[in-house]
Amino acid sequence: MKRFVILGAPGSGKGTHTYKIAKQYNLKHIVVGDVVKAEIRNKTELGKIMYEYTSVGKFVPSEIVIDVLKSQVKNLEGFDGYIIDTAPINMEQKEAMKDFAIDGVIWLKVTNYDMLKERILNRLICPNCRRVTTKSKYPNKICPCCGATLEQRYDDNEETFNNRIVQYIDKTLPVIREYQKQGIVIEINAEQEKQEVYNEICDKLDKFIIEKNLV
Ligand SMILES: [Zn+2]
Repeated sequence: MKRFVILGAPGSGKGTHTYKIAKQYNLKHIVVGDVVKAEIRNKTELGKIMYEYTSVGKFVPSEIVIDVLKSQVKNLEGFDGYIIDTAPINMEQKEAMKDFAIDGVIWLKVTNYDMLKERILNRLICPNCRRVTTKSKYPNKICPCCGATLEQRYDDNEETFNNRIVQYIDKTLPVIREYQKQGIVIEINAEQEKQEVYNEICDKLDKFIIEKNLV
């Protein structure tokens, strides 16, 4: 069993890389943000509560998030494990996830926060085919795959970014430090080009899996 989580500041590339890691290592890909968004979109009771937080760039309370995750990791049939993007993001969540028995924490480390802000404000997404690209590549905002008009994600704005980066520094970095004491953090330099970042992830993950004897 391979039980991983991936952590990193907003804009550090978690989404892109987690998708590839999940495929390559046959892991169930659990995206906390997607589960939250689905609940909000469907306007469930939980969704309405969660919307009050996410609409102002705040994080959803831990107990709600962890309940959602518990139901997700229950069924791993056909997989060799899972990778969760992005939790635990604070000490409360870490405590609540004790019985998850996480094997490894992939940390996409970026120290240049201005670079992250630029990445996020430059990001565009296709509402039709979900392709993620940038304003600087496609200033006319036409999707190169399907021709639809590219959009900015509703939460890709400066205020939300600032809120999230503060939360990341205050709440998530202490979690990573705790995991470092346990010797299970796989630190990645996420300031490199995408492909270099992914290569580093695979190199270190392969070694980690052998070292910890995760089958
Ligand atoms: Zn498209």
